[in-house]
Amino acid sequence: MQFHRILAVTLVSSLMGPLFSSFAWAVPVSSLPTSSMVPGGVAVVATGTDAIAAEYDDDRVMLAEYEGEQYAIVGIPLSARPGSHQLTLTSSGGATETLSFTVTDKQYVEQRLTITNERQVNPNNDDMVRINRESAEMNAAFSSWDESLEPVMQMRVPTEGPRSSSFGLRRFFNDQPRAPHSGMDIAAPEGTPIYAPAPGIIRATGNYFFNGNTIIIDHGHGLITLYCHMNTIDVEVGARVETGEQIGKVGQTGRVTGPHLHWSINLNNVRVDPALFITEDTLTEETVAEDTAAEQPTSDN
Ligand SMILES: [Zn+2]
Repeated sequence: MQFHRILAVTLVSSLMGPLFSSFAWAVPVSSLPTSSMVPGGVAVVATGTDAIAAEYDDDRVMLAEYEGEQYAIVGIPLSARPGSHQLTLTSSGGATETLSFTVTDKQYVEQRLTITNERQVNPNNDDMVRINRESAEMNAAFSSWDESLEPVMQMRVPTEGPRSSSFGLRRFFNDQPRAPHSGMDIAAPEGTPIYAPAPGIIRATGNYFFNGNTIIIDHGHGLITLYCHMNTIDVEVGARVETGEQIGKVGQTGRVTGPHLHWSINLNNVRVDPALFITEDTLTEETVAEDTAAEQPTSDN
């Protein structure tokens, strides 16, 4: 009996060994985001090999194993130029290889908003000290790389409601150009619950100048989500959350024109379109007319 059990264990480990070692550095995943090779999109690129590391724009990139194939999951910045982009793969022997993918152009529409609090458009010196400190704090959370988590890349919508501002809008606040919209806005009444759209660890919480009450969730391997303008924050830093667990409530804290959730997704420290991570898009898109934009819930993230 003893002999048989040892033999069985040996057989299993010799069968499983090569299978695991060939993807030792790729995280096994059960879903992938939608590939969209445009500025602000995600490039899902089959590596055709068993690379142990991938880099794009000097940032580490997620390597995922999906249905027996290895893929690089690359966040493309909104500032990316159309054309050929390069990904550097490193093999277990240390050799590097370049893999190219083509980014096509995407024109995002303009959005003009009126903010009544002038300091939220042109912050004073004290505000700038605070803004710089807070952005350093958030950037540290965005550059987290946690390998203990298996990223879920088809997510649930974090709160129910119409989408009031899409990702990528070219923004003007009180007629002054500002950074493009780096997330998805979902309009909902103040107090509406917000749920974790995928499992993760709470990496940061805070009350920030522009973002108001904010949560950052780390989903592993450079996939990190952001929730802003909340009424209440119902979780603490370091807590593990599961899909569907309440993390807070919709509010109108920070720079807003009404209650809504601003939801951002970061991949290799790049803000990408959250719509690419939603399985069933239950959100309804509302057209934001330029002259009534001030009445629409929004934010500047
Ligand atoms: Zn927003």
